[in-house]
Amino acid sequence: MQRFSYAAPKSVKEAVSAIAVSDRAKFLAGGPTLVDLMKNGVEAPSRLIDVTGISELNEFVIDGDELRFGALVRMSTVADHPDIKKRHPVLSEALWRGASQQLRNMATLGGNVLQRTRCAYFRDVQYPCNKREPATGCSAVGGVNRGHAILGTSDDCIAVYPGDWATALSALDASFDTVSPRGARTISIRDLHVEPGRTPHIETTLAPDEMIVRTRIPARNAYRASTYQKIRDRASYAFALTSAAVALDMDGDHVRDARIAIGGVATKPWRARDAERSLIGFRLDAQIAHRAGELAYAGARTTTQNAFRVPLGIATVEKALMIARARA
Ligand code: SF4
Repeated sequence: MQRFSYAAPKSVKEAVSAIAVSDRAKFLAGGPTLVDLMKNGVEAPSRLIDVTGISELNEFVIDGDELRFGALVRMSTVADHPDIKKRHPVLSEALWRGASQQLRNMATLGGNVLQRTRCAYFRDVQYPCNKREPATGCSAVGGVNRGHAILGTSDDCIAVYPGDWATALSALDASFDTVSPRGARTISIRDLHVEPGRTPHIETTLAPDEMIVRTRIPARNAYRASTYQKIRDRASYAFALTSAAVALDMDGDHVRDARIAIGGVATKPWRARDAERSLIGFRLDAQIAHRAGELAYAGARTTTQNAFRVPLGIATVEKALMIARARA
């Protein structure tokens, strides 16, 4: 690991001032991604700005029409909250099915959405990787790519965005309040992550000196008939082969509104709007749910090793829709 300096601001204002005068500085929260990458030599910040002592980032508000989670709220706090479990199961389940208990106790919601890909070539500096070092090539395209993306890929990068939480947030149209030396703004989850295109090293629209202060979820969209289903190689502490976040507004047996996002298969949290539209006004049964799954994966571009994830993903959407329907 390379040497770095360390600062521990006590307010958002101090944190922004600290990053404004530091070249190659990074904000540090729970640290599960950043510290790992520093150990691997993938990240080498000159300065760490540790925001964990900033109490204003611990906000946790369930306010009628809106949920607000400060950037430092831990995964386990929200996963286990009785109101979240009862009224917003898609959120609770997405958190419960991510990482391990120890990591959920450590990882923050603000950091979680910014987690980096688990592509093994990205994390091993002996392999070429366009994301780690632009224009060096992609080792995964002709290498081991069973777990790589099938949606939103480019010739330069097929790395999966691995997060469960952001997939659930995508279904519910969450947004993020941010701050930087240039001021404050709000970014929709739709606009936060970007597809790799020719620049896979650019993963989000956040500036290097910009920090997430809070997540906002319009509670009117977080229908109680919701679920997060995740299929993986083992039952716990594994990333998704496929996942689906679903929330339904039902009128009897018929769908009034539907929200579907799929995870583990795309280069960013992936909203399946054609699949959503296909459900509205219909009586929801297994056949209609399967058709929605097919639409969610209509644009998939597979490799020799990961084509199995298309039928698996379709089945995951179908299963999630039927579970959500049963909760309506
Ligand atoms: Fe790097 Fe992306 Fe290729 Fe993985 S898939 S080796 S992250 S360029």
